[in-house]
Amino acid sequence: LTNEFKEAIPVLNCLENHGYQAYFVGGSVRDAILRRPIHDVDITTDALPNEMKRIFKTADNYAGEKHGTDLVFLNGKKYEVTTFRIDGKYLDNRHPKNVSFTKNLKEDLSRRDFTINAFAMNQEGKLFDYFSGLNDLKKKIIRTVGDAKQRFSEDALRILRAFRFSSQLDFKIEEETLRASQMIKENLNDIATERIFVEFSKLLAGKNPQRSLRQMYDLGIVDFLPGHELITDQSDLFRNYIGIQSSSHAINWTRFIFFSNLRESSLTKYLGSWKMSNQLKKQIFKSINLLEKDKPSKLDLFDAGLEISIALSAIKRDDRNNLLSDYENLAIHDLSELDINGIDLKNIGIPVGPIYGKIIEDLKEKVILGKINNNKQRLLKEAKDDYINMGTIK
Ligand code: ATP
Ligand code: MG
Repeated sequence: LTNEFKEAIPVLNCLENHGYQAYFVGGSVRDAILRRPIHDVDITTDALPNEMKRIFKTADNYAGEKHGTDLVFLNGKKYEVTTFRIDGKYLDNRHPKNVSFTKNLKEDLSRRDFTINAFAMNQEGKLFDYFSGLNDLKKKIIRTVGDAKQRFSEDALRILRAFRFSSQLDFKIEEETLRASQMIKENLNDIATERIFVEFSKLLAGKNPQRSLRQMYDLGIVDFLPGHELITDQSDLFRNYIGIQSSSHAINWTRFIFFSNLRESSLTKYLGSWKMSNQLKKQIFKSINLLEKDKPSKLDLFDAGLEISIALSAIKRDDRNNLLSDYENLAIHDLSELDINGIDLKNIGIPVGPIYGKIIEDLKEKVILGKINNNKQRLLKEAKDDYINMGTIK
């Protein structure tokens, strides 16, 4: 057991001491076996949600609810504890009509999407592997638990999850599972864009997005991605795309969009159809504009910031590998590095007002462009001149 699990043992103990079963489950168990970094340790139990509330009641051992799952806080960490359940019949390709609870671990594991996600592990580290997940992990295979066609019909998001895990882990999707993904793909029309966005972002960030995207193109699954109709040369994008495994979604999306050749109004439409956050949209636009320039200026690089500059130098590795060193050589990388601030302006008698922003902006530009040094005395003198000039020009 790794530390992440050891730290969570008190949660299992607490449930077991009250006479319930409790196991580690899902992605954390998979990642532990693969010796990958573990994100969230999820727990499954036969205690019902209201029973859990009674068990976890002290301040540092508190259960709060989050759509049917209980969040248990322990030593400043939070754990999702979910009651063993069986999904009812799916009526609309995504929502089970009803969920019923069960006392049987195997039933809970059987509703999970892939064999490699359907393990449970007890606190001694004993694995419960009813669906040959270990075997598939060894063979590096993504395979649905049970009949692929049925499992994809129940929830079409699982189709994208298959390609996401395939990219993330660099595993192959098993034949039957792959075939079913093609047969059921139209059901992706019923899946909420936000859920598709999450899986596709993880796919882009994975070890092998190239294989997933190529297969999704060949199987016609990309036709069900938001905004796909705006991409003019789909085959070029999806069959030749190569990822850079950044942990930043902004960077992975920028790279993907840079190669999609979507620009300006069609880019606005495309990002809109993915329902991205305004922040992400802004970052992508900024970076694409930067990439489109023959030679980004120092001010462009300052605006972009470190993360984006790294990404951009990686994206245009061939002709632009000095972008990152250009960024590093900037006189300042953040306004906080400027050797002057509002208090200094006030101390030399400039009345507080919007003019502060204008003066600082001007000083920032001059420092970045190398016109003046980032030195307090020099900046104060320049600020005074600015104040006089701006005051008279109005
Ligand atoms: P990650 O490392 O990205 O968090 P994960 O395996 O933990 O990967 P989650 O999306 O966090 O994936 O889901 C947690 C677990 O819940 C999965 O391992 C799987 O057992 C189950 N699960 C999640 N989504 C589905 C789904 N759509 N259908 C069936 N089971 C699912
Ligand atoms: Mg998870």
